[in-house]
Amino acid sequence: MPDAAKGWILDGFPRTIPQAEALQSIASADRAVNFDVADSVVVGRLSTRRVCRGCGKTYNVATMPPRKAGVCDACGGELYTRDDDKESSIKTRLENYRKQTAPLIDWYGKRGKLLTVDGVGAPEEVLARFEKAIGK
Ligand SMILES: [Zn+2]
Repeated sequence: MPDAAKGWILDGFPRTIPQAEALQSIASADRAVNFDVADSVVVGRLSTRRVCRGCGKTYNVATMPPRKAGVCDACGGELYTRDDDKESSIKTRLENYRKQTAPLIDWYGKRGKLLTVDGVGAPEEVLARFEKAIGK
């Protein structure tokens, strides 16, 4: 693909070692970037996330609230908490992450491809760290 001539980024994939092995067999990734975020921060981010029923736009009541509580700025739709952002689901997601995804940190580390970026902070701060880490 011409738009991938300079390189490509897969966001949120692979999530398991079998997926990483499958990817490796078709295209070798130069680097894997781990955004390091403490569990408490993950829980805070997800439990404050709201999604519009109308258009799917995402808000965060702590850091990026809508102008009017519970109402989408873009379409006036109702904002709700996704089932998998509820606290019990977040716990399960973190457990799955530890079992299935966290082992990739070692997997890529052993292959000399792992970059770890501090993922805590404002999006533009995290982006700046990411760009620095990949040498952009
Ligand atoms: Zn909306």
